[in-house]
Amino acid sequence: IIELKQVYKDYPQAGVLQTVLHGIDLEIVPGEFVAIVGPSGNGKSTLLNLLTGIDHPSRGEVIVNGTALQSLSNEKLTRWRGANIGIVFQFFQLLPALSLLQNVMLPMDFLGILDKARRKARAMQLLERVGLADAAHRLPSQVSGGQQQRAAIARALASDPPLIVADEPTGNLDAATADAVFDLFAHLRDQGKTLVMVTHNEDLADAASRKLEIRSGRIHADTPARAG
Ligand code: ATP
Ligand code: MG
Repeated sequence: IIELKQVYKDYPQAGVLQTVLHGIDLEIVPGEFVAIVGPSGNGKSTLLNLLTGIDHPSRGEVIVNGTALQSLSNEKLTRWRGANIGIVFQFFQLLPALSLLQNVMLPMDFLGILDKARRKARAMQLLERVGLADAAHRLPSQVSGGQQQRAAIARALASDPPLIVADEPTGNLDAATADAVFDLFAHLRDQGKTLVMVTHNEDLADAASRKLEIRSGRIHADTPARAG
């Protein structure tokens, strides 16, 4: 269970503090598929960064399974995140010096899951799943944005985390590739994974159990996805 209690986030902009999130209260329970929508620059990525402990609130608390993320040391936080969350970043954040295959193996390397041969086999399987088997040995700079995005999705799934957080995971994909990624996320949902996703893809938003609309740093609407 993830709980946000009166979460505020301020960023300094041109020397002035600007409040980007205004007192967010939110509870996400295991197995939910939450689609986050809202205009550009309104705080969606900031919200994901707080949920995953990549950034901390200026005020308020993010509590995961009873533990306030702020109370953890950086080392504990990194371990916790590695073991529990797969993250697909808006700008992918693949390591540029590693091949796509090595990037996908990273979370398993970090956690010491499986032996090296099996890590590699699992990473290849995931790359195949997103249509990238042929590009496995290329560097991120040698593939397209959409291919980088798919590699980032494969990496997020590598350690089979219970929670997957994704920031516009189909933003750079054509319709056919987006469909394949949609199937993948629908499968994860059916497996009982918790999914929290910023998305403007209609199919993905419709597959969600809940739709959260963020406007001006506030929850503007929080509705069951198929309600209306
Ligand atoms: P988009 O749909 O374009 O990705 P978003 O809803 O994800 O937008 P955020 O990235 O959360 O928006 O940004 C919200 C606001 O916070 C923006 O005004 C942005 O400029 C500001 N902001 C985000 N990160 C930082 C930062 N690290 N330092 C300063 N300002 C920031
Ligand atoms: Mg964003």
